[in-house]
Amino acid sequence: MKPNPITAAPMDAAARKSIKPVICYPTDTLPRPDLSAYRALRDDMELIETVIIPPRDAATWEVPASHFCRLVCPEGPQVGDLNLFNLNNLNERFYSGKTRALNGTHVGLGDQLFSNFPYMRPIATITHDTLDWYGFDEFGGSVHDVIGTRCDPYTHNLLSHDGQYHHCCHSNLTRALAKKTGLSPELAEPHVHDVLNLFMCTGFTRDTGQYFMKASPVRRGDYLEFFAEIDLLGCMSACPGGDCSSEHSSDTAACFPLAVEIYKPKRLPQGWQAPPVNGYDRSHGF
Ligand SMILES: [Zn+2]
Repeated sequence: MKPNPITAAPMDAAARKSIKPVICYPTDTLPRPDLSAYRALRDDMELIETVIIPPRDAATWEVPASHFCRLVCPEGPQVGDLNLFNLNNLNERFYSGKTRALNGTHVGLGDQLFSNFPYMRPIATITHDTLDWYGFDEFGGSVHDVIGTRCDPYTHNLLSHDGQYHHCCHSNLTRALAKKTGLSPELAEPHVHDVLNLFMCTGFTRDTGQYFMKASPVRRGDYLEFFAEIDLLGCMSACPGGDCSSEHSSDTAACFPLAVEIYKPKRLPQGWQAPPVNGYDRSHGF
C-alpha cells in the first residue's frame, strides 16, 4: 500500500488537475509506413522455416530483411516474450520504451518497432494482427503490450523472499541467446532486454495505476505478423505464466508451445528501402 499524501493540496488544486493532456509524440510527425505496399505481398509468399518454442522455454530464429515473420499460437492460450536484435550487431536491439512513447502502450497493425540509441530506427513493421478486434476492454486492458518488462528470477526472489525459479522468461531468453551466440550466460544476459509481450492482455488500474494482467483472449491459430526492415535475430520465450490469467514465475499455470513462421515474399514492397540508422550526428553539444 502506498502512504496517503502528506502535503496539503493547494487552493487551485482542482484547476491544476483539470488541465487537458497533450500527446507527447503526435503521430502526424511520425513517418508512417505504407501499410498497403507491405500487405500487397502477403498473398504470394513462401513459408521457408517454422520454429517451435517449447513451453517454459525459449528459442531463436533469423529473419532476413524484407521477409515476413509470423508469431503464432498453435495450441492453447499462451503468452510470448519477444526480443529482437540486429542479426549483424547484437548491440542494436528492440527499444520497448521508445516504441511505447511513439505508438502507445500496446502495439498492433501498422505500428513499427524501434531500436535503441544511437541506432534508433524502425526494425520491424506489424503487417497483420488477428487480435486487432480486441481494442481496449472496460478495464483499460489490451493485447501485445510494450509496458511490461518480462518475468524474471530477480523480481521473483525479491517478492517471494529468497525463491529460486529458473524458467522465467528472462532466464529462458538468456539460455536461448547464449546457445545461439556462443556467449557465456554472464555475457549473454545483459543483451536480454524489455520485451514485446505477445498476446498478453494488460493495462494499468485506473485507481492505483498498477500494472495488471488478465487471461489472454488468444485463440488457437491467432498470430501477429511483422515485416523485417533489417536482418533480425528473434528470441522468444513461452512464458511460464501460460495465458497469464493468474500467476507466473512458477510451474503452476498450464503452458503451451508457440510457433514462429518465416515467409519469403516474391518481391519487395513498392518503394521500400531498408531504413538507415538514425540521422542524429551524436555530437551532443560538445
Ligand atoms: Zn514470462
